[in-house]
Amino acid sequence: MTIFEKIIARQIPAQIVAESDEWIAFHDISAQAPVHVLIVPKRVIPRVGEAHSMDGGVLGALLIASQQVAKKLGVFETGYRLVINNGRDAGETVPHLHVHLLGGRELGWPPG
Ligand code: AMP
Repeated sequence: MTIFEKIIARQIPAQIVAESDEWIAFHDISAQAPVHVLIVPKRVIPRVGEAHSMDGGVLGALLIASQQVAKKLGVFETGYRLVINNGRDAGETVPHLHVHLLGGRELGWPPG
């Protein structure tokens, strides 16, 4: 089980922001910005590079969910960034697809 599956199963705690049948959003334990939330599908897809066309619905749901999370945490108007790390060079550490939502400060570009 990945750490995110354990959060979904309520086996370990997390600061949950919002949830649906398809996804859960919770604060990142090591926040890189004043707002740093992970939006995670409940059905495990290891990484976006391994998603299939049948996963399109849930992938879309994660992006639509980000609107609701951004509004709830007060960054919808000021702006926010969505990040998906895929594989070693991108810094992926948890093999359970997740969208980072970062905001609450000006974010540098390009990312490191
Ligand atoms: P990534 O490096 O893109 O795979 O992102 C994994 C993220 O999960 C990192 O930003 C971690 O800080 C975060 N993370 C790891 N364990 C937990 C946890 N128990 N609760 C919340 N976030 C976590």
